[in-house]
Amino acid sequence: MNLQRELKERFGYSSFREGQEEIIHSVLNQQDTVAMLPTGTGKSLCYQLPGYLMDGHVLIISPLLSLMQDQVEQMKVMGEKRVIALNSFLPYMERRSALEQLHLYKFIFISPEMLMNRGVISSLQSLDISLYVIDEAHCISQWGPDFRPDYLKLGELKELLRNPTTLALTATATKEVREDIKQVLQMSRAVEMVYSVDRANIGLFVHSVSGQNEKLNTLLVCVRAWDGPGIVYFSSKRMAEEVALWLSEKGVSGVAHYHGGMEQEERILIQQQFLSGKLRMICATSAFGMGVNKENIRFVIHFHFPSSIEAFLQEIGRAGRDGVSSVSVVLYSEQDLSLPLQLIESELPEDVQIRGFIDDGRKGQSKELIEQLQLTEVQYRFLTYYTDELTRGMPFDQDRLLEKVKQIRDNRLQYKKEKLYSMIHWLQAITCRREKLLHYFDEKMDRDHPFCCDICGDSLHDFKTKPFVLNTQDAGDITWEKRLENLLLG
Ligand code: ADP
Repeated sequence: MNLQRELKERFGYSSFREGQEEIIHSVLNQQDTVAMLPTGTGKSLCYQLPGYLMDGHVLIISPLLSLMQDQVEQMKVMGEKRVIALNSFLPYMERRSALEQLHLYKFIFISPEMLMNRGVISSLQSLDISLYVIDEAHCISQWGPDFRPDYLKLGELKELLRNPTTLALTATATKEVREDIKQVLQMSRAVEMVYSVDRANIGLFVHSVSGQNEKLNTLLVCVRAWDGPGIVYFSSKRMAEEVALWLSEKGVSGVAHYHGGMEQEERILIQQQFLSGKLRMICATSAFGMGVNKENIRFVIHFHFPSSIEAFLQEIGRAGRDGVSSVSVVLYSEQDLSLPLQLIESELPEDVQIRGFIDDGRKGQSKELIEQLQLTEVQYRFLTYYTDELTRGMPFDQDRLLEKVKQIRDNRLQYKKEKLYSMIHWLQAITCRREKLLHYFDEKMDRDHPFCCDICGDSLHDFKTKPFVLNTQDAGDITWEKRLENLLLG
């Protein structure tokens, strides 16, 4: 089979990017595969192209609703009609009719939550699934910072679907995490195709500041010098908003904020404007970026640093996808150290929330309970999964259950703290930052980097970008209302 020709004919690309062809070959040979490719290199192609060449259906498990919608939309734009996203966005009646006609879809995207539903599983069982894809597969691992307990069910599901060829895709997984992925997905004989996480065209800089004012002023100097497009990451929604406003007041045009607390419509609008060059810069929380395919992002600045090296790598990986020289800058102040710790703690349920959830007899499905206990989505998922697992098939003493859940929570907390400390050590490094980053993923640095990091003596003053001209044209553009309608109605 001539894969090059298929690539050209179906996708219009003239060559594969590093790793794609090998991964596709492996999958077509029905070999279970764990593939690690840096963000933005084109993981989607690794299941889309084989999907066309295989007889059965491709099932893709994807953790984030926005990411899934985006991927489905991109496939539709490419002309693929036999694609569907099964998630909570789909109204009940449409979901029902989609499940009845699932055989009509070649590519079925689904959220892990949806796979808890018996009806969905039995519809999938009636299909011939040739390829079982787990996107962002590091979410499977307890040793990954983005662990999603509901991913642990994916091994069982694979068996229920008669063990189709499995492809686990990730951009950031340590060796330990990759082992875990194989274990959970029951693919001990899977081949691992691991490509360097190094993004050679991104210079790595940490700039120490003494406090908030110096940080703001440095940010202003950077964005004035570099123009855009760029992303500035914050840990706090409020700060993202306030700094975006402050920059606008300082005369920086085309700046907007983006975070998970905003309405869906507004978020889509901002993302769309950034993609089309109508905005030069986004001040965002980590909610921004997944599935954002913008080639020419020149800088990613961390106003607050993230709580793991994995998250950091994902976020800076949005810069320089076109291969042009780009920078990552962390504005680092000693005062920032306590914030990520608070964030980590707030992600997990407190004692009183665990007690409330268990006392309620796990009628946690009720909206009132979620509101009453002020559970976030992550806390709710954690509690539902572990109380279910621990009580499965046997009566459980409530006090013992409480102790057990607290213990799991404490272990998780400890683990996340260790991840955070690795990040902080990296920030405080005194030897090459790139080498340290690679070492974290068990890689060695095997080439020279002309623009490496601040420790290697490179300077931000040497980083120059082309002037960025804001796109002010409106004509012929699809309106965001229309885009939203397409997105939701398919
Ligand atoms: P990620 O690895 O982050 O999941 P995607 O699969 O979303 O990345 O792909 C990133 C971008 O790269 C997309 O715009 C896609 O169309 C493009 N792309 C993927 N493979 C190739 C290729 N072989 N040649 C050119 N562009 C490609």
